[in-house]
Amino acid sequence: MDIAIIGAGAAAVALLDSLDPAAVEAVTVYDPAPLPWRGRPYGPDLESVRVNVPPEIMSIRAADPRHYGTWLGGTSEYDDPWLGRPVPPRAVYGRYLEDTAAAALARFARTEVLREAVTGLSLGGPGERIVVETAAGRRPADAAVVCVGGGTPPDLYGLAGAPGFVLDPYPLERTLADVPPDRDVAVIGAGLTAVDVVVSLAARGHTGRIGLVSRSGTLPHVWQRPMRTDVRYLTPDHLRTLAGPLTLDGLEDLVRKELADAGDSWEDVTALIARSMTGDPAATLREQFALMDSPLPGRRIVRMATHTAGPVAWRRLAEPDRRRLRAHARAITVQASPMVPRNAAVLLDLLDAGTLEILSGAGEITAAAGRFRVGHAAGVRAADAVINAVNPSAHAVPGTAAPLVSSLLAQGAARHPDGGLTVDPGTGRLVVGGRPDPRVLVAGDLAGDGPFLTTSIPGVAALAARAAGALVSPR
Ligand SMILES: Cc1cc2nc3c(=O)[nH]c(=O)nc-3n(C[C@H](O)[C@H](O)[C@H](O)COP(=O)(O)OP(=O)(O)OC[C@H]3O[C@@H](n4cnc5c(N)ncnc54)[C@H](O)[C@@H]3O)c2cc1C
Repeated sequence: MDIAIIGAGAAAVALLDSLDPAAVEAVTVYDPAPLPWRGRPYGPDLESVRVNVPPEIMSIRAADPRHYGTWLGGTSEYDDPWLGRPVPPRAVYGRYLEDTAAAALARFARTEVLREAVTGLSLGGPGERIVVETAAGRRPADAAVVCVGGGTPPDLYGLAGAPGFVLDPYPLERTLADVPPDRDVAVIGAGLTAVDVVVSLAARGHTGRIGLVSRSGTLPHVWQRPMRTDVRYLTPDHLRTLAGPLTLDGLEDLVRKELADAGDSWEDVTALIARSMTGDPAATLREQFALMDSPLPGRRIVRMATHTAGPVAWRRLAEPDRRRLRAHARAITVQASPMVPRNAAVLLDLLDAGTLEILSGAGEITAAAGRFRVGHAAGVRAADAVINAVNPSAHAVPGTAAPLVSSLLAQGAARHPDGGLTVDPGTGRLVVGGRPDPRVLVAGDLAGDGPFLTTSIPGVAALAARAAGALVSPR
């Protein structure tokens, strides 16, 4: 089989790694980015731009959670002093992806990595070969896997082009270089990207005021020191064995049982999450930091399960239950995607020094005469620079993939109601004309059947493994 892989980010690496070379003879990878395999997050950047997750849940090999830790080796160079686990710069993780891709590619008889954007896929009739279209020409393939990643940051306030406004903060090495250290900076957003921006400003010796402006003012929680948790019910395998439809109430019963068996309480966990959504953000951050060593395992279990079992559960829930979950999207996100303690420590220092303010109720943000007026619940704040840390919603189509997606839609593919494209949930095959097309698979955020959280590495690896399995399974 001769396959085309469209996009060379983490999902493509996971796919290459899990493809069976006995079934795939030739691989052609397409990506216009100057550095393949790293995608948007893992390119060269400041040392302060760290991975957000301990190594146990950043393995790109779905079947081997130790794969990344083994690659990192026994170094303590990147240890987060509070977490006691390595939290390397994201560029180091990018090297892991590069090494894994090189090892995986070496297993195939013929490989090519082309620095080209795919602009369309011509599907032809069932059983025919598909044709991959780029500005350089057209090449046939037996199958294609679309791994184009997520969208690009939205310009919610129409500030693009205003001097001092940064629309896409990465790489921070470049975008922060023009921010004078003594100026007032406003960061739009309060999620992990906003944390990256603040920590990187601090690392560059920023002395001016920094304001995090967002609707809720809610910061991500803080990772807890890892501990052994023997999860029985909230695993992808267990959820797959459950007969009949899965309901949110049924899922909640499982969580309750899992936490009770582990000596913790779901009521306590939800009460803590609820408190973190309404309290003073600085006080909540302090509480979160203090709870880092809590011996109660409940929050650790829920956090891990959100990334591993969560996508499996989501695909089995009926739409009314999904709607109920969506209503809690922010609360689920802040607990499921916490900041690493070393970043929390920087934020706390800045809050104590009065350099950092967390402003909720984001209102209008306007640019005039080289400065910005930033509206928030308690008034208006001036800023010399505004850095956008708002991430695209899950399943957004990246600009570079817009022509490809249009080409697929024109041939009978469908938009998923949650964004992205409609795929067959069992296999990740693109649904074309109402039927899964065995020749086109989607791995990553463009697969619209996943939850509303941006796909993390375990999710990306699972989707890639699903696609690799479907490619070689009987059609
Ligand atoms: C800033 C940031 C930090 C993150 N940090 C973490 C973390 O610490 N831990 C974690 O678990 N998860 C993290 N994530 C989530 C997850 O790891 C990433 O989103 C992951 O990179 C997704 O991989 P991907 O291959 O789907 O997409 P990407 O890595 O974005 O790769 C997609 C690739 O497709 C290419 N492409 C796009 N259009 C075309 C086209 N038409 N033709 C050919 N190629 C195309 C792009 O150039 C790009 O290289 C982070 C996400 C972001 C955005």
